Amino acid sequence: MGDIANQMALSLILKIKDKIKYKYIARKQKGTESMKILVINAGSSSLKYQLINMDSHEVMAKGLCERIGIEGSNLQHTNVAHDEKTVIEKPMKDHGDAIAMVIDALVDEKIGVIKSMDEIGAVGHRVVHGAEEFADSCMVTDAVMKALEKCTPLAPLHNPPNIIGIEACKKIMPDTPMVGVFDTAFHQTMPAKAFMYALPYECYEKDRIRKYGFHGTSHKYVSQKAAEVLGKNKEDLKIVTCHLGNGSSISAVDGGKCVDTSMGFTPLDGVPMGTRTGSMDPAVVTYLINKGMSAKDVDNLMNKKSGVQGVSGVSSDFRDLSAAAKDGNERARLALDMFTYQVKKYIGSYAAAMGGIDAVVFTAGVGENDAATRAAIVDGLDFMGIKIDEAKNAARGTVDISAADAAVKTLVIPTNEELMIAIDTQRLVEG
Ligand code: AMP
Repeated sequence: MGDIANQMALSLILKIKDKIKYKYIARKQKGTESMKILVINAGSSSLKYQLINMDSHEVMAKGLCERIGIEGSNLQHTNVAHDEKTVIEKPMKDHGDAIAMVIDALVDEKIGVIKSMDEIGAVGHRVVHGAEEFADSCMVTDAVMKALEKCTPLAPLHNPPNIIGIEACKKIMPDTPMVGVFDTAFHQTMPAKAFMYALPYECYEKDRIRKYGFHGTSHKYVSQKAAEVLGKNKEDLKIVTCHLGNGSSISAVDGGKCVDTSMGFTPLDGVPMGTRTGSMDPAVVTYLINKGMSAKDVDNLMNKKSGVQGVSGVSSDFRDLSAAAKDGNERARLALDMFTYQVKKYIGSYAAAMGGIDAVVFTAGVGENDAATRAAIVDGLDFMGIKIDEAKNAARGTVDISAADAAVKTLVIPTNEELMIAIDTQRLVEG
């Protein structure tokens, strides 16, 4: 963004900030409720949402619009306090219709949780790719929308629906501040020696080819939460965060800042995943193309047919893999071994990169729930102070699973990307 655009964006941000701040203070003075933030995660034909009360950090309502623009669209809405789920089947021709339905559900007398749309203090939008344009979450302004368009070529499948979601919300709630929260932003603190690829420098300058990293909102949330759990300042900790789910990434977080991460230019890099290869010799790509495969087919092979699914031939789901491995399926065992071996290597290499390690954090579907996979990952790492307690490892929720004599803490922390988006949104609108 140029200087003038920057200044215009800044003055607009300040005006919006003032507006929301006064609205919020006025409400507080009247003795009404706390700030409520709507978190939106828009996909190409779906839209997930949560309304969060920022005093208690409790989710008031959540839901999902499915099949937007396709026959059979529906809204699945849950009023959390009443533990009541309602499914509304109604055509939604676009994301505008979807947002309107979400608002209707939120303010509905029977299934809603607020009286009017005005109670929504701000909207936080998940945006997948912020490239080098966005090193932090930011208030959405016209200049920001333009900068977002610039990031689209780097995430052609994910960013357009995110942008459409923001535009649809802006139309329906023109006076409500919008904040963009980027999956890539937390990783923008990586030094060049970590994010550069050893391609000719022009590839970085002209084509913006470099490591960006993903799952940043999750790595940020769990690394901050880890500091809280350990009763330490995040500035004093060296943490390796392991977000292990259907997609997986590992980050090195030194003093609260990301210094390296396993995903790269795209979310294909790093450890093997449900159906993604993770890192491998890049020459495999040209070898397959020279053998006659199209670039599109290779892309499909590496993203959708590989990973633990491709190796095992069983499933991309770790529960199925564990069950098959227990029944003696050797390829399922191999897929699990390949996964745990790679995660272990990242933990070791990131400890080396940071010159030490205070904590390892496990999060996401596999990291939070799969005790056997956690145990296999840290097995043999006692030489570097990482050792877990078997009984503690069987527990659920936020838990310290380190052995009593471990020099390095091992924690399980359920991720909460929606809450992190809401916290960032509140930070920005309240200044
Ligand atoms: P996510 O992408 O974070 O939703 O994680 C999905 C992955 O978590 C899938 O591979 C699931 O098999 C795995 N997962 C979820 N629950 C469990 C569980 N109880 N035990 C093992 N793996 C689980």
